[in-house]
This record gives sequence, structure tokens and C-alpha cells, in this order.
Amino acid sequence: MQEHWQSALSDMRTRLSAENFETWLAPIAWGGCEGHKLRLRIPNKFYADWIRTHYLELLLGLVRDKSGHSDIDVSWEVDERLAEELIKTEANARESAPPPSLSSPPPAAARSRENQVAPVPANLNPRYRFESFVVGPSNQLAHAASAAAASSPGARYNPLFIYGGVGLGKTHLVNAIGHRVLEARPNSRILYVSAERFTNEFIAALQNHKMDEFRNLYRTQCDVLLMDDIQFLAGRDQTMEEFFHTFNALYHSDKQIVVSSDVYPQQMKEMEERLISRFQWGMVADIQAPELDTRVAIVKKKAEQEGIDLPDEVAHFLAETVQSNVRELEGTLLRLAVKAELLKQPIEISFAREALRGTHPPRESLTTVEDIQRAVCEYFNIRMSDLKSHRRHRSVAQPRMIAMYMCRQRLNTSYTELGDRFGGKDHTTVMSAVRKIEGRILSRDAEILASVQAIEHRLGRN
Ligand code: ADP
Ligand code: MG
Repeated sequence: MQEHWQSALSDMRTRLSAENFETWLAPIAWGGCEGHKLRLRIPNKFYADWIRTHYLELLLGLVRDKSGHSDIDVSWEVDERLAEELIKTEANARESAPPPSLSSPPPAAARSRENQVAPVPANLNPRYRFESFVVGPSNQLAHAASAAAASSPGARYNPLFIYGGVGLGKTHLVNAIGHRVLEARPNSRILYVSAERFTNEFIAALQNHKMDEFRNLYRTQCDVLLMDDIQFLAGRDQTMEEFFHTFNALYHSDKQIVVSSDVYPQQMKEMEERLISRFQWGMVADIQAPELDTRVAIVKKKAEQEGIDLPDEVAHFLAETVQSNVRELEGTLLRLAVKAELLKQPIEISFAREALRGTHPPRESLTTVEDIQRAVCEYFNIRMSDLKSHRRHRSVAQPRMIAMYMCRQRLNTSYTELGDRFGGKDHTTVMSAVRKIEGRILSRDAEILASVQAIEHRLGRN
């Protein structure tokens, strides 16, 4: 069994970013197994929770496939020696590789969250509830539609189709619907299933001649079907066909169907037309990437939930720095908390900046030649075509020289490349422009200094 586990871990290594793998999966130690229950040792309780919500389904699926046993399960065992090892690794990493970065982060001691582990009905994630979902302009529609579907299942918003990019809260909302329905109607039969799992169960049922059971479960033993990541069905014709009939059976008995996808129905390639059209019978709601204020609110909420003491300033810093998606934002916060606890330091702004430097370089270094050109044009109120032209009038020549100088200063772009980016100029032209501005800055030319500062400021704000 240990080999299957190790082999599943190696597969995971290729699926996850190195950082996530090192943070969450690498610290797990094998603790033996009893029957088909794997005993996994972890540095603290924090891991069990995070792994359970993020990676466990995938991991267990792999071990099940490899071992051929469908009933593989795990138990967790906190082993403080693992935490100590991690602390040592971190200390070494800090000594040998300044400045510290999170590229091989060192989680360890973290808080106990026993109080949050409640029995999970219907396979729902206990943490994904409406109460823990932050509503903002980016997800307002999806949230409202989900709440409405949950309060009168099978009625107006049926089916409900939620779509949005990765890590923006689809799974969270889908689970929240399940919890809300159960609160009002504790006897409801809720089935939460990812399309991937639906597919696997379907194939297994086919192979083991258990289609009757499978159909009975999905078509008759179910009041609310929550199907996550439906895009997984695309191109899997047989499973799609099965789902189509499942859908019809449920729909015609007024059972609520909720489907999530990372693409808009009509953009799902290799998805059957008739399914796509059914998805549009009810309500289609999208989730967009959250804007800054919502991100700040989300970080604060997560910190509160996890019992992390997070100053406002740091919440803002995180929300500004991590813009890609909420999962990433949440992961960054947790890593920061784990690191702070490990190093016994409060989460202050300087600590956060330092900790994030490796994975999220300061915005400044993300500036591009184009950003600088644009900022210069805006500041001097000239056109980009003028900036890149050969005109020598002072009103455009001076901004051009300043832009070249700033690109060289901030980005260290080669003179040749700068020549190309400024409308095909010779590298010696660029070089002399940069020198000229440098000279004027050295002689404290007030006009040039003020312009450069104002443009810097403009870039800093982006
Ligand atoms: P998706 O299924 O769209 O890929 P998830 O639902 O898994 O995304 O969300 C990723 C993480 O971000 C989850 O931990 C979830 O709780 C959190 N999250 C996303 N949106 C919100 C929100 N609006 N409020 C609170 N947490 C959120
Ligand atoms: Mg999801």
C-alpha cells in the first residue's frame, strides 16, 4: 500500500505547483495502514483540514486507482517531531538562502481547529456556507441566485448554472446551497458530486454491472443534485449521455439541479448541444474575479475564521498583491500565518512583505516598458505614436528621453531592445538619451526630477 501512496504522491507532484506540493503534501509522513485505511502523519492539525478540502479527493482517487480498492480511506495522526523537523529546515533555509522566500515554505505549528470539524452530511464541505461567503459586485448575481435556489429548490432557478474562473467560489456556493437546503429540510437527500467523480462512479457501475444502483441513486434517491465542474464531461460521450438522462429524470420530478463550470455553457467545446440548451432553461449566473474591496473583505473573513490576528494594513497588502483568485489569496494568507507562527513573529506589514517577496514580487518589478511609456504619455499628455516617432521637438523629445531613462533604471532593459520598443531607434541614440537624463538628474534639474517622481508615483499606484 505504501508504494501506491508514494506513487500517488509523485503524480500529485506533477499536478500541483511546486510551492503547493512542498507546503502541503511533502510534509506528510507515512504511518502505516490498517486494512484499507492509510495512517498519515502530519505536523499539525491544520494540515488535515487543508488537505481534506483541497487535495484529498484527488489523492484518494489516485490511490484507489493504483491499488484497485475503492474503499481506501485515511486517518490523521499529528506528529510533533515533523513540526520540529520543519522548523529546522526553515532555519537552515533562512541561513543559507537570504532573503527568505516562500518558494519552499515551511509550515509547522498552527492552530487547532477541532471546533470546526463537524459531521459532514451529504458529502458537503462543512466550511463552505453562505455565512462564510463574502458578497461583492463580482459574485452578487451568483450568490443571489444560489440563495434563491436554496430557499425554494426545484422551483424557479432550476437548473442553476454557475460559471466562473478557477478559484472564484463556485464550489463554495454549490456547497452552501446544500447546507441551506438541509437546514430548512433536514431530510432532503442532497448529492454533491464532482463531474469527475460522477464519471468514475459511472464507469465503475458499468464494469461491475451495477447500473441499476447507480441510476437509482442519482435519479430517484436524490432531491438536490449539486454537480461541480461539469466541463469535465466534455468529450466523454457516454457519461454525458448518462448525465443527460439523469438531468431529465430529476428535472421532470421538480428536483433542484445545480451545475458549476469554469466556462459559459455555450463555450463548452465537445459538450452536447441538447445538454447545453438544458443548462439554459433555468438561470445562468457568473462569478467574476473580485475587486479590491471584496478581496480585502475575504482576507479578513478568512483570518477571522482561522483565528489569525491580521492587521488591516496587512489585509490590504495581501489583497493588493494577490489578485489572481480567491484560492490563491487564501493560500497565501494561510502560509503567512503558518510561517509567522513558526518563527514566532507577529504578522506585521514588514514581515508580510518579506515573506511574499519570493512568490509575489513587488508590483514595481512587474512594470513593463509599455507601462512606463503609457505613464509618460499620460503625464506629458502626448500620444504614444509621438513617443515612438522621430520627431525632435522638445515637447516629445524630452518625454521620450525620460521614458528611456526610466525603462533602463527600473527594468534594466538593453539599449538595443529599448531602441526597438521606441519605434526603431539605434541603440546609441537610446544610450545618449539615458546619459543625458542621468546627467540632469545628477545636477538636480528640478523640472526633470519632478517629472520622474510624478511618473514613478503614477506607476506605483497601478
Ligand atoms: P472554484 O470552485 O470556483 O474553483 P472555490 O469555491 O473552491 O473556487 O473557492 C476557492 C477558495 O476561495 C475557497 O476556499 C473558498 O472558500 C474561497 N472563496 C471564494 N470566493 C469566496 C468569497 N466570496 N467569500 C469567501 N471565500 C471565498
Ligand atoms: Mg471548484
